[in-house]
Amino acid sequence: MEEKVGKLIVIVAPSGTGKSSLMRRLKEEDLLLDESISYTTRPIRPGETDGKDYFFVSQDEFKKMIDNDEFIEWFLVHGDYKGTSKKFVEKKVNKGHNLIFDLDIQGTDAMKKFFPHQAVAIFIKPPSFEVLKQRLEGRGTESKEALSIRLENAKKELERSDDFDHVVVNDDLDRAYEELYGLVKKLIS
Ligand code: ADP
Repeated sequence: MEEKVGKLIVIVAPSGTGKSSLMRRLKEEDLLLDESISYTTRPIRPGETDGKDYFFVSQDEFKKMIDNDEFIEWFLVHGDYKGTSKKFVEKKVNKGHNLIFDLDIQGTDAMKKFFPHQAVAIFIKPPSFEVLKQRLEGRGTESKEALSIRLENAKKELERSDDFDHVVVNDDLDRAYEELYGLVKKLIS
């Protein structure tokens, strides 16, 4: 019997759109979605488990993996590397597992390129740029400079919103969640 190949659900959104809020809810559902486990060079924190929260590796090991072209996407943030392993995703998807990813635009593009048949990208869009600005200001987690960088990036990212497979507008959180949940459920059934 041929095994069913899984789906790779990628959630992508400009910062401040509500991606974390929506993903938190999605992960609580018993939807048969596995989370992708990334590789990182940042030190393990108390309460974290290697192979569950991340695969924790040294900078040397990570750089070797980059040289061997083992990542679908990787990036450097605050001096630490993070990346998604091709092998990890391939193994899961070939076993029929559905994975959910929280990626930026570049990561989403890379995932679609590597897995054109399995990857489905859902773009979460704010109702307007003005609302996005208000939400980011309201969250109060950024300095003034960081906020303006995020808003500049968001403007560029919003221009790409029609390039993805599905768009969900996060107007009202409960409504947007219901739409997203329904969509993901349909995609993996
Ligand atoms: P992201 O992960 O996309 O950066 P967050 O989930 O942190 O965004 O949401 C940004 C801010 O907007 C948070 O303060 C969050 O509570 C708020 N927020 C999210 N969705 C909505 C919504 N539909 N309506 C109003 N506020 C929202």
